[in-house]
Amino acid sequence: MNTRRRGGSSDLDAVVVGSGPNGLAAAVTLARAGLRVRVYERADRPGGGAATRELTLPGFHHDVCSAVHPMAFESRFFREFGLRERVEFVTPDVSFAHPLDERHAGVAYLDLGRTAEALGPDALAYAQLLRPLVERSTRVAEFTGSPLVRVPTDIPTALSFGLRALEQGSPAWNLRFRGDVAPAMLTGVAAHTILSQPSVAAAGAGLALTAYAHARGWPIPIGGSQAIIDAMVDDLRAHGGELVVDHEVTALEALPAATVTLLDVTPKALIRLAGDAMPAGYRRALQRFRYGDGVAKVDFALSEPVPWTHPELRRAGTVHVGGTRAEVADAENQVNRGRLPDRPYVLVSQPSLFDPTRAPAGKHTLWTYTHVPAGSAVDRREAVTAQIERFAPGFRDTILATSSRSAREVERHNPNYPGGDIAAGAPNFWQLVDRPVLSPDPWRTPIPGVYLASASAAPGPGVTGLPGWFAALSALRHDFGTRALPDLSSRG
Ligand SMILES: Cc1cc2nc3c(=O)[nH]c(=O)nc-3n(C[C@H](O)[C@H](O)[C@H](O)COP(=O)(O)OP(=O)(O)OC[C@H]3O[C@@H](n4cnc5c(N)ncnc54)[C@H](O)[C@@H]3O)c2cc1C
Repeated sequence: MNTRRRGGSSDLDAVVVGSGPNGLAAAVTLARAGLRVRVYERADRPGGGAATRELTLPGFHHDVCSAVHPMAFESRFFREFGLRERVEFVTPDVSFAHPLDERHAGVAYLDLGRTAEALGPDALAYAQLLRPLVERSTRVAEFTGSPLVRVPTDIPTALSFGLRALEQGSPAWNLRFRGDVAPAMLTGVAAHTILSQPSVAAAGAGLALTAYAHARGWPIPIGGSQAIIDAMVDDLRAHGGELVVDHEVTALEALPAATVTLLDVTPKALIRLAGDAMPAGYRRALQRFRYGDGVAKVDFALSEPVPWTHPELRRAGTVHVGGTRAEVADAENQVNRGRLPDRPYVLVSQPSLFDPTRAPAGKHTLWTYTHVPAGSAVDRREAVTAQIERFAPGFRDTILATSSRSAREVERHNPNYPGGDIAAGAPNFWQLVDRPVLSPDPWRTPIPGVYLASASAAPGPGVTGLPGWFAALSALRHDFGTRALPDLSSRG
């Protein structure tokens, strides 16, 4: 065991900065390995991008950031942790829907066959594109969520996935389709990445998420995303870990002594926290890390469910609003060029349809966000409302209260989202391979005992806990000489 320690005196083995899903995944893993762990969090409650709060009116519980959790369901960390045994989820049978006009919509059922059937002339093309990925969805998740996406262990799955991502990420993306609906559905999911359209990285992420939509669905936690965090904090405390909230860490030097320090922060913050302790070459490499465009978030308290014209949308866990593939791509590419589109792409979820704890009886919460140029200070409440109204006339009359955050306010709320970039670093092709630097162990920094454990590190964004888990495993290997995977299960 490495006995080198940073800072002043303390009896800690590990300090974690930040209590987002990745900081807590790291903390839980280290505590389960028998280490003494303390987590520092700048906010007054833990959770980072998985927090739930009363943002509008009393009794209306809104997910401040993440709301829908296919990535948590597919994450190997959360499988080891037994998330589904600890937190109750509801999985809508319509994973997502995508309205095109008053009467037409793409509807992604959990059942791929049923989804394809409704696509008429594109039934076969859609099924052929998705079936191999749906049948191997666990392998797809292992490939995209592996520490190093560039080293596939299952070549057929990697090939099948890669070829499809190349096709859907190229100008030839419409060749296999005859209608408008299937292409719009695929771009609605690919656009989650906030990348330009078409692009291979966006198509890859979109295809993986669409495969999950038809394999295990897009689940929603009862009580909100905070339930995931609460389960992690309970486990941490049950294994001797401590959590200190309302404590912003401003320098590594200010931390108590510990053998390892794991940082749930961006490379930008890591540079600041480390100061002169950071070797110049590594600092330059981190300065090359690029952040993407941002989001503006709008939450609504509603008197009744959204009056979508298309009846199947009323059963959907998530709705992608923005029209045809061409319209969504145009809106996203405008954002990419620094403009605010008049008709933006909007992600919408109405969790109260499936979870009555989110709002007073008969009332609803609506979670939405839209993409904006990095650092935008513009309030997008009206643009989002108008887009929803386009496919749900009468929506305005259901609004009881609204809470709106510009991209700049998203960053002020959580510095892990620079300029409102919720991926904590653009998830483009290079930054998936090279995240935050090109290394077989990208979590380990050249500062002895210091690890990057956030979504800015491989394998990237989403509520997966994977970057934090991989960082903790790297710390256990290098600083504590253990290669054994700590038992994370609820029985452990
Ligand atoms: C609007 C929005 C919608 C999203 N939707 C989804 C979704 O539906 N599904 C999904 O899977 N993902 C979604 N995401 C992405 C997901 O939330 C993030 O990828 C994930 O939370 C990243 O986890 P993390 O632990 O790396 O960072 P974060 O969750 O951002 O946590 C970082 C934590 O560190 C704390 N911190 C930072 N610096 C310091 C410091 N110096 N001292 C002390 N504490 C510090 C922060 O306060 C924060 O609590 C969404 C994100 C946003 C913002």
